[in-house]
Amino acid sequence: MPTYRYLGNSGLKISEITYGNWLTHGSQVENDVATACVHAALDAGISTFDTADVYANTKAEQVLGDALKGQRRESLEIFTKVYWPTGPGGPNDTGLSRKHVMESINGSLKRLGTDYVDLYQAHRYDTETPLEETMQAFADIVRQGKALYIGVSEWTADQIRAGHALAQDLGFQLISSQPQYSMLWRVIEDEVVPTSRELGLSQIVWSPMAQGVLSGKYLPGQPLPAGSRATDDKGGARMIQRFLTDDVLTRVQNLRPVADELGLSMAQLAIAWVLQNDNVAAALVGASRPEQVAENVKASGVTIPAELMARIDEILGGAVER
Ligand code: NDP
Repeated sequence: MPTYRYLGNSGLKISEITYGNWLTHGSQVENDVATACVHAALDAGISTFDTADVYANTKAEQVLGDALKGQRRESLEIFTKVYWPTGPGGPNDTGLSRKHVMESINGSLKRLGTDYVDLYQAHRYDTETPLEETMQAFADIVRQGKALYIGVSEWTADQIRAGHALAQDLGFQLISSQPQYSMLWRVIEDEVVPTSRELGLSQIVWSPMAQGVLSGKYLPGQPLPAGSRATDDKGGARMIQRFLTDDVLTRVQNLRPVADELGLSMAQLAIAWVLQNDNVAAALVGASRPEQVAENVKASGVTIPAELMARIDEILGGAVER
């Protein structure tokens, strides 16, 4: 069973291992495998699920909604996002205008088969729409009961500060930020995390396993493992490339003794590592097979001693993006 953490300064508790379905559901894996992964997550005690309207052009929301059918709604925390177009669309199908936000939430709720999402997130910052307009739309969505809480994704510290101030004026709170964060990608540590701590937001971090690379299954100079994301020609292969260098893969293999010392798999070490940061409320973990979910959830509640955290830093050295 994963441990629960509060999301920002709110009273909402979420499972610190949260299941995400980017690139998998409605795309890389068939619907029956997707459903099996969601059921494996529920069996493992995961109650928090993250998706977005743009994942597989709306199919990911549909698959998740179908897989969660029959579950007690109050026992789930369902997160989705708005920003990108979900099809060919017109000029108003992108960004965070009032029109796009108000129309998008309705489509998401329909596909997810629910009257409300627990967290509605701005998938990116919209430099073209006045922030006041976006925040007013979010305030209205909260008032209408279509979303209980509001979060953002990949916003800078300054953008978070501005959004947070407007939200307070409008009577609601921004409670979360969803950035990329892993042993190999630590860009948020200098500004986003301190600002979030100050303002009462938590991080829900994506690609904590660097899309599977930190599981140690990609070996330097060896063929890519069959069926892995790096071989997925529907988009996954392109996204993972930045981590598939000999230097990164060699350093990742050097983490194996650290995982062994803790009695963890490499995947579990990677997930446990992001959860050592107390501003991280959840590691958003994907899976292409139910067995991966069962393995990954065991990273919950693990403490990595300071001396091993320092050893990880030494091993990864210059391969880390900061
Ligand atoms: P991860 O870093 O957790 O990578 C997950 C992938 O790694 C799986 O699909 C699987 O791929 C592989 N994997 C998982 N478990 C294991 C294991 N135990 N052993 C070996 N391989 C394993 O995260 P994702 O990149 O999938 O991102 C997670 C979630 O974050 C997304 O689903 C989405 O909800 C969110 N996200 C948000 C973004 C944003 O902009 N806000 C952007 C991207 C993601 P395979 O088996 O195919 O190799």
